[in-house]
Amino acid sequence: MFRTRFAPSPTGYLHIGSLRTALFCYLFAKKNKGVFVLRIEDTDRERYVADAVEKLIKILNDFGLHPDEGPTIEKSKVSEKGKFGPYVQSERLEIYKKYAEQLVKEEKAYYCFCTAERLEQVKKQQSEKGVPPCYDGHCRGLDQSEIKKEISAGRPHVIRQRVPKTGLTEYDDLVYGHLQFKNELLDDSILIKSDGYPVYNFANVIDDHLMEISHVIRGEEFLSSTPKHIMLYNAFGWTPPVFAHLPLILDAKRQKLSKRSGDVAVEEYVKKGYLKEALLNFIALLGWNPKTEREIFSLEELVAEFAFDKVNKGGAFFDVTKLD
Ligand code: GLU
Ligand code: ZN
Repeated sequence: MFRTRFAPSPTGYLHIGSLRTALFCYLFAKKNKGVFVLRIEDTDRERYVADAVEKLIKILNDFGLHPDEGPTIEKSKVSEKGKFGPYVQSERLEIYKKYAEQLVKEEKAYYCFCTAERLEQVKKQQSEKGVPPCYDGHCRGLDQSEIKKEISAGRPHVIRQRVPKTGLTEYDDLVYGHLQFKNELLDDSILIKSDGYPVYNFANVIDDHLMEISHVIRGEEFLSSTPKHIMLYNAFGWTPPVFAHLPLILDAKRQKLSKRSGDVAVEEYVKKGYLKEALLNFIALLGWNPKTEREIFSLEELVAEFAFDKVNKGGAFFDVTKLD
């Protein structure tokens, strides 16, 4: 069974790049008679925006990218469909905690009691020596009695992954091909923060596994996080999904499309009067090359034509003139 997911963080608007991710997830799922899941990644509490989830659901539906599972709006209230819920990460905190504790028990993760001041000090020393900032492993070797003492003293702590310091992490990306990363360059990153919330990297892996996602399709900016994700799958003994990263979207200056480049919110283009069909058609061609002269595709036609062997690695130029 093919299962893809679009996993936005609710920021209050839909970025052009996110619409492309959602579209490609949708196209790949539909092409393979699979399931398109919407999951809300809202564990970064500082970024919480009211109504953002409603807005997201609505705009996806407006573009015809109806999720088969995930939050939906019924009778103007947010509810859910699908049997892998909850699909909103802030409602899954207990699940993340349980899996993090499992890794601690298996010594694949550990409690870290370092204070912000200490970590700041370490970072300073590293930058003075000209080495990249990295957790120095101070709490990697704490023994059970020390840990118990710290916890019963109520000391705040995070949970960090114990990353192997040698060897390679490798995988085959549907777009970028075979990729290798040196483990020594990977940090013992935090899985659960001191407030009990998971970090993106951890929650993302747990959910992709539990929601039985077969293909993770997302922007190139997550390529460098993927080895961390694969290490987590390995730590749990789970088979990782297939990954496909989509090329950067570039502005007229051939820089990553950002707020500095002009409008990046899909809502802005809709407001200006661009037709949704035109926007979708245009966005589909950001990185996907049908290898024909043909330029006009309906959503159904895109489903029929879409394939990853026609997705390029090179940056995709966001050409507003062409959109016009
Ligand atoms: N929540 C991430 C985002 O905001 C999702 C990344 C992913 O698809 O793994 O884009
Ligand atoms: Zn520590």
